Amino acid sequence: MIYKKYGKTGKDISVIGFGGMRFLKTGDTYDYDKCAEIVVKAGELGVNYFDTAPYYCDDNSEFIMSHAFKNMKKQFYVSTKSSQKDGAKLREQLETSLKRMNLEKINFFHIWCILNMDDFKSRMVKGGAYEAALKAKEEGLIEHIVFSTHCNGDEIETIVNEDLFEGMTVGYNILNFPFRQKGLQAACKKGLGVAVMNPLGGGLIPQKAEYFDFIRSEDDETVVDAALRFNASHDEITTVLAGMGSVEEVVQNCHIGENLKKLDEKKLKEIEGKLFNSMDKLCTGCRYCEHCPKKIPVSKFMLAYNNKILQNEQEVLNNLKNHWGIEYKKAKECIECGICEGKCTQHLPIIARLRDVGVWGDAANQ
Ligand code: SF4
Ligand code: SF4
Repeated sequence: MIYKKYGKTGKDISVIGFGGMRFLKTGDTYDYDKCAEIVVKAGELGVNYFDTAPYYCDDNSEFIMSHAFKNMKKQFYVSTKSSQKDGAKLREQLETSLKRMNLEKINFFHIWCILNMDDFKSRMVKGGAYEAALKAKEEGLIEHIVFSTHCNGDEIETIVNEDLFEGMTVGYNILNFPFRQKGLQAACKKGLGVAVMNPLGGGLIPQKAEYFDFIRSEDDETVVDAALRFNASHDEITTVLAGMGSVEEVVQNCHIGENLKKLDEKKLKEIEGKLFNSMDKLCTGCRYCEHCPKKIPVSKFMLAYNNKILQNEQEVLNNLKNHWGIEYKKAKECIECGICEGKCTQHLPIIARLRDVGVWGDAANQ
């Protein structure tokens, strides 16, 4: 396994990190023994950064991690998060995470999911999230305060220049890199460690392996290998968090981490050039747009809409019907309140896209 320095923390972190958000259920529940085996295997193969959070996997992820940690012999580091804005509530959540995972401290504690600059400011007020995290750090409950965000590059640059954090976690992949690249560069310049999540674009990259095949080089067996290598090759990125739901996935991902042949700057630029035009148009399936007042499953509609960009309109309708089991007509119930667009991490024109789907569906059903 290749290790990189996480900013100025002095920690060497595995280039492949464990994303604890993709454990799979056995029947209706999570089999903790089975899930923990996956985590333990990753530790054995050299992964030393384990990322979890309250609410991941129906709030089971921290418990699964705890179950695994008991059986891990090598040194490892734990990352968890709180999106609470209120200091007292963040403290409560931190203490819950510590208790759940039977830890004395969290190595990387995230001010979680900063959506925009107003949201960032709301975490920084007196009595707010950051102040509470700082106090917990002074008490030894947190080792490094970091943040995770869906902000764009300029906004990330503003945040890192505040000199408040030792690292950050952002979504970054071949589908959305232009949106955040400036932020990564700013973080690197400031000496922050960077973990990247969602390296496979919410599963779209392996699903459209043929489309993305051009990013594969002779060193990559699969498009997944190529996508992970794209991220891991960035000097700005310390660790690539891969959600792992099976021992096989752990082995495959760790193989990449062991045999990483870095893409040189020229090759990176070449791939970026090919991808650039459509990068910020695709939905990554992050689901922050949910909770529509009209109960429209926005993320599913937008994931289906990716087929318009990658293929054609008919594929959008097919995907909605056959993959998601959704009637296109649901899109026409949108009252254009804008709540989903305000939350969309990719800043997609959701309302206009829903309108498109309604028009295409009507035309196809005439
Ligand atoms: S704009 Fe439409 S889809 Fe989005 S939250 Fe409002 S009603 Fe739902
Ligand atoms: S529409 Fe936006 S917020 Fe919703 S899943 Fe897609 S990228 Fe995420």
